[in-house]
Amino acid sequence: MSYPIYKQAIYETTLNLVKVGLIRLSSGNISTRLPDGNIAITPSGILYDKMKPDDIVIMDLGGNKIEGKYKPSSEKALHNEIYKAHPDVNAVVHTHSIHAIAFSTVGIELPVVCLELVFVGGPIPVADYQTPGTVKVGIGAAKHFSEKPGLRGLLLQNHGLVAIGNDLNDAYQNAYNLETGAEIYHLALQTGKKPISLTDFQITQIFEQYKKPGKY
Ligand code: 13P
Ligand code: ZN
Repeated sequence: MSYPIYKQAIYETTLNLVKVGLIRLSSGNISTRLPDGNIAITPSGILYDKMKPDDIVIMDLGGNKIEGKYKPSSEKALHNEIYKAHPDVNAVVHTHSIHAIAFSTVGIELPVVCLELVFVGGPIPVADYQTPGTVKVGIGAAKHFSEKPGLRGLLLQNHGLVAIGNDLNDAYQNAYNLETGAEIYHLALQTGKKPISLTDFQITQIFEQYKKPGKY
């Protein structure tokens, strides 16, 4: 099959993540599931302001490269373990965005203090620390998504965030909402007061209002 449309879509999502500050230099990686079952993913260690659509790598679910001049992201197993465990997930975004990393270092679940964290299925858990780039990062993340249906993003201890979606735009928005929610919670804590969490009833009412759990 021909992959240019999907490479272009990953390229544009990456630029959007750079634009909103979730990605700096070459940190983070983005992927999407292809109709033939393979995965398109950002290359490893390439500065995103230098990356071109054709630099996106095509790999199989085992992480073997099918097409591309660079190596697939070193976090290919994070993406693939999620795709293998969740056939409904079609896109994965992993970022080293600063508020997500900051909260991941203290290992506390993010409470649902704002709409952004409602939409991403909060409270947001922190997956146990695993060496970046290992399959264990992916197994841990996939397990959290299995345990909590409706969860669309989580923190990776001492590392960053990972968000999933029905498509690239959905995964992008989930990553954005998670990072923004973490930033809001951080600012609220600066007041010295305890931020108020939304109740289960209030969360249900919000989903009722917007009709689509996990989305605007
Ligand atoms: P890549 O540059 O290999 O995608 O990896 C960055 C990263 O997220 C390491 O955890
Ligand atoms: Zn990472």
